[in-house]
Amino acid sequence: MIKENIEKVRQQILEICEKVKTDPSKITILCVAKGRSVQEILEVVSLGINHIGENRVQEALEKYKQISDVKWHMVGHLQSNKVRDALKIFDLIHSVDSVSLARQINKQAHKMNKIQDILLEVKTSQEVRKFGFKPELLAEVCEEIIKFDNVKIKGLMTIAPLVDNANETRPYFSKLRQLRDQLNPDWLLSMGMSDDFEVAIEEGANIIRLGRAIFERQCLIF
Ligand SMILES: *Cc1c(COP(=O)(O)O)cnc(C)c1O
Repeated sequence: MIKENIEKVRQQILEICEKVKTDPSKITILCVAKGRSVQEILEVVSLGINHIGENRVQEALEKYKQISDVKWHMVGHLQSNKVRDALKIFDLIHSVDSVSLARQINKQAHKMNKIQDILLEVKTSQEVRKFGFKPELLAEVCEEIIKFDNVKIKGLMTIAPLVDNANETRPYFSKLRQLRDQLNPDWLLSMGMSDDFEVAIEEGANIIRLGRAIFERQCLIF
């Protein structure tokens, strides 16, 4: 099933890229593997996906020991007391959502003699529970974080709100792209999940974060 799912996702990516005239090789599939077994992840890796995402540091640490030759991505909210462990394994932290967290990462990265790549999580919707920077504060926040020598901002990340129709996510993704264009055109956009990655690609996503589209049986709605 995983194999069929990945083939289907790859086909969908090709079709969208064709439609919006983007280069499919510029889109990274990040397999979000929270709650999935090492065996399942190894199957995904054997099919050529080598970017694995987790949302809890402890779970990632355990899997990390058993899976090699992949890049690890942290996509969940990171608590400051987990920063040290996180820096041991993650190549990219998508979920930096406060200046104090960035400062903590910088401090720890300095101790470990590492430059930690990060994305800034942006709250593109009005939902209350979501983590992330408010769009209107982002420029100011970047100025602060850019001063930290041991973190490198690689781009922006957002989670679109749950909606009935994927098309309704478009304004959030396009908002993130506009922010990126204003702040640094070279930055990456991490946006789009199983239900909305097609819209995200249309709006310029570089990293799409897929869980269910890879691991779960897809139901067809006619
Ligand atoms: C779980 C998760 C995903 C993947 O979600 P699916 O809907 O299963 O594709 C993507 N991003 C984040 C931050 C997640 O926590």
